[in-house]
Amino acid sequence: MTGLSTDEPLLELRDVHAGYGGITVLHGVDLKVAAGQVVALLGPNGAGKTTTLKLAAGAHAASSGRVFLGGRDAAGARAGQLARAGVCLIPEGRGIFPNLSVRENLLMMTFAGRRAQAEVEEHTYSRFPVLGTRRAQPAGTLSGGEQQMLALARGLATDPAVLLLDELSMGLAPLVVAELYALVAEIARGGVAVLVVEQFATAVLKIADHAAVLVRGRIQWQGTPDHALHAELSSYYLGTPS
Ligand code: ATP
Repeated sequence: MTGLSTDEPLLELRDVHAGYGGITVLHGVDLKVAAGQVVALLGPNGAGKTTTLKLAAGAHAASSGRVFLGGRDAAGARAGQLARAGVCLIPEGRGIFPNLSVRENLLMMTFAGRRAQAEVEEHTYSRFPVLGTRRAQPAGTLSGGEQQMLALARGLATDPAVLLLDELSMGLAPLVVAELYALVAEIARGGVAVLVVEQFATAVLKIADHAAVLVRGRIQWQGTPDHALHAELSSYYLGTPS
């Protein structure tokens, strides 16, 4: 992994405010993710979920408040520095290159030199066998679920300490989503701190350790997934279950 301390939560947001061009989108967000934990950040459209992930990845700056990585203040750190420190954001839309083959998409992630190409391929194809059988195929011709697996595999090739996932379930069938979240749970068991943003919550709550609901830039509720699945909460905050 990286030099991040695991005694502290690997990722912590403390009273974070942020916005775009004078419009405040996050109004004091507090959130912690420990090593080995999956935290689900849920909430309706436009609540500020993606903005929260961008802050954690250094892709957007807070106007006030603090972001800590492994107990260290990440103020002023840019996305590239945080990526080298072990923070990996898999954006909505997956961030893969459709015209490149599966193998080329993976090998691009080895340029930073943390892991050898052969090692990345071996790990990927043993964890995601279907990607092995499709290694020469353009990524754009994979099914949606396979593309999301490739996005996960690219993230894992950087050996992350903190994995940030945005709308993994987007456009995928419930069975495929369940399979992907089983893989995410396995990744967390390996000691990675995982923060998952989802608008439709049912699948992620089956594997999450903790859930938080963001509404209009404020955490309205935090607790166990069991409580989050409570009917009243789901219908009010979480939209139609997927
Ligand atoms: P969604 O599920 O729709 O992606 P979200 O909860 O992830 O929603 P964000 O994408 O964080 O929400 O957006 C929060 C608010 O900030 C929205 O009102 C959005 O229009 C606005 N916003 C997001 N990105 C920008 C940007 N680059 N410039 C201006 N406003 C933005």
